[in-house]
Amino acid sequence: MHVKIVGGSLAGCEAAWQLAKRGIKVTLYEMRGVEVTFAHKTDGLAELVFSNSLRSDDPKVAIGLLHQEMRKLDSIIMNSADIAKVPAGSALAVDRELFSSIIEKKIKDHPNINLVRERIDLIPEGNVIIATGPLTSEIFASEILQICEKEDFLAFFDAISPIIYKDSINFDIAWFQSRYDKGDGKDYINCPLSKEEYYKFVENLVAAEKIEFKAWEKNTPYFNGCLPIEVMAERGKDTLSFGPMKPVGLTNPKNGSRAYAVVQLRQDNKEGTLYNVVGFQTKMKYGEQQRIFKTIPGLESAEFARLGGIHRNTFINSPKILNANLSTKKNSKLKFAGQITGVEGYVESAAIGLLSGIYMAYELNNKPAPLINEYTALGALTNYITNESHAEDFQPMNINFGLFPDINIKKGQNKKIIQAEKALINFDEWKTNNNI
Ligand SMILES: Cc1cc2nc3c(=O)[nH]c(=O)nc-3n(C[C@H](O)[C@H](O)[C@H](O)COP(=O)(O)OP(=O)(O)OC[C@H]3O[C@@H](n4cnc5c(N)ncnc54)[C@H](O)[C@@H]3O)c2cc1C
Repeated sequence: MHVKIVGGSLAGCEAAWQLAKRGIKVTLYEMRGVEVTFAHKTDGLAELVFSNSLRSDDPKVAIGLLHQEMRKLDSIIMNSADIAKVPAGSALAVDRELFSSIIEKKIKDHPNINLVRERIDLIPEGNVIIATGPLTSEIFASEILQICEKEDFLAFFDAISPIIYKDSINFDIAWFQSRYDKGDGKDYINCPLSKEEYYKFVENLVAAEKIEFKAWEKNTPYFNGCLPIEVMAERGKDTLSFGPMKPVGLTNPKNGSRAYAVVQLRQDNKEGTLYNVVGFQTKMKYGEQQRIFKTIPGLESAEFARLGGIHRNTFINSPKILNANLSTKKNSKLKFAGQITGVEGYVESAAIGLLSGIYMAYELNNKPAPLINEYTALGALTNYITNESHAEDFQPMNINFGLFPDINIKKGQNKKIIQAEKALINFDEWKTNNNI
């Protein structure tokens, strides 16, 4: 029994891990090392290309619930994140280099996994999982197109926010504090703006030079959860002060007041030398980014370890193309996993990799895939991408309680908390009943 996995990142590594620990031999193909993408900076497996956060770790929040379920399945991504964790309030953020190196070591050390650095251009024969992500290489993308109808191969934009060296931040102005003093109370760096400074900043964003769209990008819609900061600014001059620059839950210790708007930075590496600007994904030209971000009080001498960027995100119309067990309708030995299936986010991508690995392991042992029900976070997410009723206007989605089946609650009950409790009960039953 042997499986070929194309793509050695969050989904591919997770699928490889789940198969290998069930005794199945895996060849994991990763092109970085011989090829680059415009967003990855290293050839490390499971590189986090943008934010270093795996978002909330609170199991009463949908993403935190997904963390919990994955931990219960010995997820390589979650276990490694727990080891590489850095302070981030109630969020689970990691030192991205440590995170990637832990995963790479576990993968390389596993006797059932053979890691091959190679770009795959043709869909291999046999049992295959495609986990090539939003930046699937061009030739391979056109190969995948062959198994889709043209209109079932979709795309939208994601954008990257900048990373700044901490020692270039002016702490005579900036201060450490988490919103509402969550976590240890001082996980974020805050830069305050007065009303005048804020509106001037918004004006600058709107007037800034942006990267031109190529002709084929012009009709690609933005994903709302990842809007570039200048697009938010264009939508209204107060949009940012109610969005990523909201000042609530923060008090400036230098004068005891609340700023009109606040720019927050979150730790990006274990050493605490790098901080990313939260929610500042952008498609402004590099020179403009430096000029405009340096007008933020506290960042006037900022040195940038990485500037923001924009990319096209490629995904398939999974509800049309995939079965509930993540195999294609045309070829039962071929599964898709990760962001290319139309889930959005690091954890969601890994989650689909995890299930594709478990399902394929069962099928290779001549047992039906133990499909997980949609009362669980894993099941709700999988149902979103495989239920045909979602095929029309299919758009990438993060996990959220809106994907779970509706439930009746009694007056005064918190629906999300009940959904989260029900999810874990369903999950534990599924795991026990299927001996997983
Ligand atoms: C620029 C950018 C910023 C993002 N920011 C965030 C964020 O802040 N938070 C978040 O939760 N999610 C973010 N995402 C989404 C993120 O991509 C996914 O959440 C996650 O990385 C997807 O995991 P994956 O394993 O499906 O794909 P990827 O992580 O992209 O991994 C796919 C792998 O396949 C390899 N590959 C591609 N083609 C081939 C080939 N032909 N042969 C061999 N190997 C190949 C690639 O080199 C890559 O390593 C961002 C995505 C991008 C592109």
